Amino acid sequence: MHDVQDCIFCRIAAHEAPAKIVHEDEAVVAFEDVGHRAPFHVLVIPRRHVDSLAGADAETIGKVGAAAARVAKAAGYLESGYRVVANVGPDAGQSVPHLHFHVLGGRSLGWPPG
Ligand code: 5GP
Ligand code: ZN
Repeated sequence: MHDVQDCIFCRIAAHEAPAKIVHEDEAVVAFEDVGHRAPFHVLVIPRRHVDSLAGADAETIGKVGAAAARVAKAAGYLESGYRVVANVGPDAGQSVPHLHFHVLGGRSLGWPPG
């Protein structure tokens, strides 16, 4: 059984750790990334713990993806554009093992990522 106390994003989803939450519903939570790599940088997570995109079911991925699009639109980035990124594993630099989609906007974003 997964222990909520072991996972910072589970603790944020449970309101046991502080975060600037911009959206939440029964399935997902979206909150500002403390690292702040762009003027708009929000993380969207499923409430229920799953380690990464690799282990997630399609319904969960769909809800997280749809919420990512919604928060970007609500913040006004539909016209200018934005990026949604899910890092998976060491080569991608995944540092928190709870599925999260980064939503980045508000500046021109380089491609390809480093
Ligand atoms: P990853 O490197 O796994 O793709 O992304 C993890 C992200 O979570 C990083 O951008 C990092 O800044 C962010 N992060 C790590 N710990 C916390 C935290 O306690 N609160 C918030 N809001 N963001 C966090
Ligand atoms: Zn978790």
